[in-house]
Amino acid sequence: MGLSNRITGLTGGTSGGWDLFFKARAMKAAGEDVTELTIGEHDVRTDPAILDEMHRAARAGHTGYADIPGIPALRDTIAARVQAATGVPTARENVVITPGGQAGLFATHMALCDPGERALYIDPFYPTYPGTIRGASAVPVPVTARPEAGFQPAQADIAKAASKGAASLLINTPNNPTGVIYTRDTLDGIAAQAQEQDFWVISDEVYDTQIWNGEHLSIRALPGMAARTLVVGSMSKSHAMTGSRVGWVVGPEEAVAHLINLSTHTTYGVPGFIQEAALFALNQGPGFEADIAAPFRRRRDIALSVLEGQNVVRAVPPDGAMYMMLDIRATGLSGQDFASRLLDERRIAVMPGESFGTAAAGHIRVAMTIEDSQFAAAFAELVRFAAALT
Ligand code: PMP
Repeated sequence: MGLSNRITGLTGGTSGGWDLFFKARAMKAAGEDVTELTIGEHDVRTDPAILDEMHRAARAGHTGYADIPGIPALRDTIAARVQAATGVPTARENVVITPGGQAGLFATHMALCDPGERALYIDPFYPTYPGTIRGASAVPVPVTARPEAGFQPAQADIAKAASKGAASLLINTPNNPTGVIYTRDTLDGIAAQAQEQDFWVISDEVYDTQIWNGEHLSIRALPGMAARTLVVGSMSKSHAMTGSRVGWVVGPEEAVAHLINLSTHTTYGVPGFIQEAALFALNQGPGFEADIAAPFRRRRDIALSVLEGQNVVRAVPPDGAMYMMLDIRATGLSGQDFASRLLDERRIAVMPGESFGTAAAGHIRVAMTIEDSQFAAAFAELVRFAAALT
């Protein structure tokens, strides 16, 4: 008797990249004054109007089992939103509601990958990716996106990885951890490979409302791609609803029907009062979403101005999402050592680039998730710390 290899091997024997985060949390719990620039959690809570709607919906009786695919009005609203943004015809049948984007990532890999099949993903990556793929009994295969290429994955590298077999490729734009938005060229290259080598694309677009520079493109909108793309979306980042656990998958009707069947046998759906609140939140419109995103844009600008006039710390152009990736190779330290010393010596917690795979070694990721003046002070301190190392 024992536990399954699937569960014991979920993170491949690694810590899953969270060591520094846990260390910072432990220091805080011990009473130390640590500035946390680690995870993607807003510094504002869910808007009280959304909570009022959640409460109203619960009191109105939305506390029983909800429709497993998602309540029709929410599916319709998401379909309309996606169609308006991409021009791809999208109906209720193309949408399944999930308990957050993470559940969507797991469900999509379950739907597309047979046990032992290769599931590609781009390195640097959001730390749950390889474990999510292993959880679906597929084999995670990283494809490196190089810092010299602005962390845009190269078509040739995808071609090479896929030539040994690939059931799926997971991409994420706007990107966590790099803050990069994939260009049309990058997406065209991915789409060409997907069609040539016949694999699915899972497109994680949970940061699609956080665009600072350029334009977000969904690969599902490229010619021929709607039939082989599953898009993962979420209310977490766009509406500061991380704790509500509500997201979705959009894709071809047949795939979505199977995803709904999977929901029946795993999550049994998402609470009705949460879905009603998500519907209300989406109906607040783009102004509401812009307000949620605005603090990150401001802090990005603060950070860029702090970086002016020095060249020890270099920013990867922060085009989207709530993070900034900084190249600290000029200090001679690894991202891990830099982050570790920054925490010990200055009580500032950032994520080492090495937490996100191998491609972002020598980098650190700064989450822009604290109040502006504190952020400005911590960021300036970080840059002084780096300068003092050289
Ligand atoms: N994808 C990416 C890239 C993320 O950064 C996150 C959360 N940090 C998720 C998916 C999952 O988000 P959620 O489950 O809250 O929707």
